[in-house]
Amino acid sequence: MTFSEINPETLLAQALDDHQSHADGIVPALHLSTTFIRDDDNEYRSGLVYARPHNPTTQHVERILARLEQGQEAFLFGSGMAAATTVFLALKPGDHVIAPVVMYWFLRKWLAGRASQWGLDVSFVAMEDIDAVKAAIRPGITRLIWVETPANPLWGLTDIRRVADLAHAAGAKLAVDSTVATPVLTQALTLGADIVMHSATKYLNGHSDVLAGALVTKDADDFWQAIRQIRTDLGAVLSPRDAAQLLRGMRTLHLRVRESCRSAMTIALHYSRHPAIAEVLYPGLKTHPGHELASQQMIGGYGGMLSIRVKGGAVAAIRVAAKLQLWKRATSLGGVESLVEHRASMEGPGTPVPDDLLRLSVGIENCHDLIADLDRALAV
Ligand code: PLP
Repeated sequence: MTFSEINPETLLAQALDDHQSHADGIVPALHLSTTFIRDDDNEYRSGLVYARPHNPTTQHVERILARLEQGQEAFLFGSGMAAATTVFLALKPGDHVIAPVVMYWFLRKWLAGRASQWGLDVSFVAMEDIDAVKAAIRPGITRLIWVETPANPLWGLTDIRRVADLAHAAGAKLAVDSTVATPVLTQALTLGADIVMHSATKYLNGHSDVLAGALVTKDADDFWQAIRQIRTDLGAVLSPRDAAQLLRGMRTLHLRVRESCRSAMTIALHYSRHPAIAEVLYPGLKTHPGHELASQQMIGGYGGMLSIRVKGGAVAAIRVAAKLQLWKRATSLGGVESLVEHRASMEGPGTPVPDDLLRLSVGIENCHDLIADLDRALAV
């Protein structure tokens, strides 16, 4: 039937037009369809069947991410936590896992709680200490080492290459949470990691308006196929609307990350000499224990995240945060706007984070405005 022969009810119900999907727009098309047409010989040659496993918009972003991390394939998830927990759920009860003592707190809580109940045997080690990692490995039983570098919120560095060698020699895989490093500053797969994870909510999107997670693999092996299946079974996918918005954010990733790195370094240097600050934690500072490794492993910058320890303890730190105007008091990181957080309050009892610590996520504002705001708040 031709377009002009179709009745209005049918036209509307099927949302038909003369130029379906031939617009040649500059901005990639947003495909909202949850289902796709089967070929008339009963095949699905496009490879697209149903939205839980397949969506062209999401897959488009996944291809770009795989290229950014120099991996074979990438999957997007509804959040960073969905991405990370799917990796652990692809293991089997009884498998041994090594994870950092200091890492993204809520994933650590999940590993110590739900994952352990499910049967994973989780050891937490100081990942910066290669001898401690070596000692924790149980050859043939350890299946996964999870690394976060730089690690929240002390920004400790882990040597990806050395931990990858240890993991592989023992028959284990290495997964790296590279949220803070971003693909701009570190490409963990090229250093030996098997899987890279991102909370795409952070730098990849960069505008604090999309919740998303990503995994990128070096090889689409059996473990990766298990991850694919769990994502599909649980429906832990990213909606195409969010994938399109994420891609919009990613288009300026390099510019945002470079600017955040530059400002974070200026801010770190400024407060390393400030009388009200006991310590600045930033891998770009020579005084940071991870500085030498960061200089080799991170390319072009030390990241946009740093922490300051305020003289006077928790009360003084919280008071400083309360006085800030430009730095917004909020959790999360990696957005164009700068955020400040009293991290120990967020993590609660049992946190390894000192209670005088403020975590700073440096955005892309004029860095001198950010320093002036902090200086004012620190003045007694
Ligand atoms: N990994 C890191 C380093 C994070 O900072 C976060 C969130 O703060 C996550 C993982 C979890 O990501 P999401 O909040 O997108 O689930």
